[in-house]
Amino acid sequence: MKSAEQKPNQVKHVVIVGGGFAGLSCARKLAANPNIRITLLDKNNYQQFQPLLYQVATGILAPGNIAFNLRAALIGHSNVDVRMTEVVSVDLNARMVQTAQGQQYQGDFLVLAAGSQANFFGAPGADENSYPLYSLHDAERLCSRILAMLESVDRDPSLMAKGALNFVIVGAGPTGTEMAGAFGDMLQASLKRETSKKPYRNLAADQGQILVVDAGHAVLSAFSPPAQAYAAKALAERGVQVRLGTSVKEVGGGHVVLSDGAKIPAQTVIWAGGLKAASLSNNLGINTGHGGRIDVQADLTVPGLTGVYALGDFANIAGKDGKPLPQLASVAEQSGKCCAKNILSDIAGKPRDSFHYFDKGIMAMIGRNSGVAEVGEHRHELQGAIAFAAWLGVHAALLTSTRARIEAFLEWAWDYFGMARGNAILDHREELRINWNDDREDRASAASAASTHADKAS
Ligand SMILES: Cc1cc2nc3c(=O)[nH]c(=O)nc-3n(C[C@H](O)[C@H](O)[C@H](O)COP(=O)(O)OP(=O)(O)OC[C@H]3O[C@@H](n4cnc5c(N)ncnc54)[C@H](O)[C@@H]3O)c2cc1C
Repeated sequence: MKSAEQKPNQVKHVVIVGGGFAGLSCARKLAANPNIRITLLDKNNYQQFQPLLYQVATGILAPGNIAFNLRAALIGHSNVDVRMTEVVSVDLNARMVQTAQGQQYQGDFLVLAAGSQANFFGAPGADENSYPLYSLHDAERLCSRILAMLESVDRDPSLMAKGALNFVIVGAGPTGTEMAGAFGDMLQASLKRETSKKPYRNLAADQGQILVVDAGHAVLSAFSPPAQAYAAKALAERGVQVRLGTSVKEVGGGHVVLSDGAKIPAQTVIWAGGLKAASLSNNLGINTGHGGRIDVQADLTVPGLTGVYALGDFANIAGKDGKPLPQLASVAEQSGKCCAKNILSDIAGKPRDSFHYFDKGIMAMIGRNSGVAEVGEHRHELQGAIAFAAWLGVHAALLTSTRARIEAFLEWAWDYFGMARGNAILDHREELRINWNDDREDRASAASAASTHADKAS
């Protein structure tokens, strides 16, 4: 772990790809040093707060509550340049990146922190027909889709037979379970209220069906059995059905086929089935590890290269037991800080530190007043309202600014006490354009062939 030799007192240029939890925390820590110039490249002009995407999808929070302007986050640092641009390829040996607009950025140090994207595992039609939940755009689109279904059936109840109010969620991990719990609350609030307070008067309480499907044998598999049992009960109380030991074989335009042979009419299939590294990992010119991520050394450098680091969801970072750490915001944020520290060590000619993850535990919210948390390394268990409150506190703390925290708390309080999500907007109007007679099975099969081909190629 000897550091690359660098001349002190000379301004060094650090190029960071990705302004998420990892890239932004690295940039912020480096920005305090006037002998460093930072160029932060991101395809969006904002940091998206993925842990709260499901709250945008279910109308609890507005998109602006969970996305933060990167220039504003770094304002006051004259040594930081933010560029909104997509990096399309990387020359790792030269520490140079190329953007979609043809520009090149070369640094004394290169930090790769491009995050994750949905992994459809080659499920036929899933890429084309399902609704992933991994970006702000995904969450806004899904919110519009859910509203489009409610509006359509309110106008024409016969669309029920075409699966308009059948919602299938693929994956019972934290993303799928949190989405299912909040969505169960949303449907109950929309359909089960007394008539005068009911937004969709023509829809009956039992008409909306949420089904969670997972190939594993428990919801929230990373949690303890009591937490799993609690989560399963909390979902059932919200009218969510869970089918375990079952995978998705095909997603069509208006149906889903399960591994037990069941074909369920469903116009909205929500994909929470897994992650892989962002697509940039295909254009690095090196062999990547599990999930397309870059295997890094203990000090977060990429083996065999000088001055190149990979962080957060874009990297396989080994934990204490040698296994890769999970894709978590806290891992990403801490790895960003450690990387900045190691770059400063490189410049000072000092040895780098190994990354040690400070594990604060895991938690999941399963709708209003319900949550599970396993706090700290010793996994002290919390359930119910106290875990729900802990979840709110921890996620508010992770938000980028005090203003963002206050705004999120106002929305949460409104939702909690008002029991109403009155202001969800159907702004993606394309989600209303549905050919109800086109089940697109043929398109699913075509997508199957294409995705199998792409998977083999990657
Ligand atoms: C639905 C969901 C719920 C989650 N819930 C939790 C939770 O409750 N708790 C928790 O700890 N973690 C949670 N996570 C995980 C957590 O959000 C991630 O681990 C974290 O965001 C990873 O940070 P990152 O900086 O590595 O990547 P990201 O935050 O994804 O940032 C990557 C950045 O890179 C940019 N980028 C990508 N490709 C390019 C390119 N080619 N050119 C330029 N820019 C590019 C992206 O625009 C993005 O801004 C959740 C994730 C999801 C998807």
